[in-house]
Amino acid sequence: MIRVAIAGLGKIARDQHVPVIAASRDFELAAIASPHSRLDAVKCYDDLESLLRAERNIDAVALCTTPQVRYDMARLALERGLHVLLEKPPGVTISEVQALVEIAKRKGVALFASWHSRHAAAVEPARAWLASRRITNVSVAWKEDVRVWHPGQKWIWKAGGLGVFDPGINALSILTLILPGGLALREAALSFPSNCETPIAAELRLTTASGSPVLVELDFLQTGPQTWDITAETDDGRLTLSMGGTILQIDGKPITTGAKSEYANLYDHFAALVRERRIDVDLAPFQLVADALLCGRHIAAPAFLD
Ligand code: NAP
Repeated sequence: MIRVAIAGLGKIARDQHVPVIAASRDFELAAIASPHSRLDAVKCYDDLESLLRAERNIDAVALCTTPQVRYDMARLALERGLHVLLEKPPGVTISEVQALVEIAKRKGVALFASWHSRHAAAVEPARAWLASRRITNVSVAWKEDVRVWHPGQKWIWKAGGLGVFDPGINALSILTLILPGGLALREAALSFPSNCETPIAAELRLTTASGSPVLVELDFLQTGPQTWDITAETDDGRLTLSMGGTILQIDGKPITTGAKSEYANLYDHFAALVRERRIDVDLAPFQLVADALLCGRHIAAPAFLD
């Protein structure tokens, strides 16, 4: 068993990491570091340094904190020779994550910049179907109500919190996996509320390796039906990936996919990386967000009130 500690006992740790570790044949939850939150029956510490001082037999750390505090903790864990799983996004800057890769290489430990949406059941079948077809047009509508899904999460609106790219990067993590040959960001328009440091909506225009257009629409103020959909037109039919990569349709007909949950698949992959002391850090989704922030036209939006 890999003895794993969780840092950051927030929504995603409670919803996914804790139950998936409990059900895993590879991992055992050894302890938790979180400044305020506590979990019954698990040893909890205020911070990762105290946890690692007290618990001498930890093998790995899953960093489920807000992105802004992740780098220092990842460095600490890697320097102690521990394997590290980074929740998405892997950090606040690309250079931070690249620096972590160098430490992981030097220490010979596993580093996993996880993209949970890539492990959704329909994503790999979608990639395989698209691989042999000519893609002519792609559109993405990732539209959700931030008040429903992220109530009170002030960190999302602070620099490094990504705003609408916090969910939007999940769409980009799927796109960069299923569209062959790389994507180029050509234009972006970003709407910034007057009281926020991160965008609340974004429109990205990209092209595939063969020059076909890709339109990505992200919105954090969607009420009514919520959409996490990707549609790809090809020379041999239309692929629709909906509900964040869980449902696949070809020309409107449902395709059966695997049943295992995203996070169960994600932890299976982390276990393999730990066993092989391998690094899996694909920065492509994060690079597209950085590019959008580099080139994006800024649009003023009304103040956001939670
Ligand atoms: P959240 O509910 O706000 O939780 C963040 C947690 O980080 C808090 O519980 C906080 O602990 C902890 N934290 C802050 N500073 C810390 C520090 N110095 N040391 C240890 N823990 C610290 O946020 P979340 O929704 O779980 O999101 C966390 C990350 O997971 C984000 O990067 C997000 O993109 C990603 N993610 C979220 C979801 C989702 O559905 N929410 C899905 C997939 C991925 P205390 O409570 O103890 O203060």
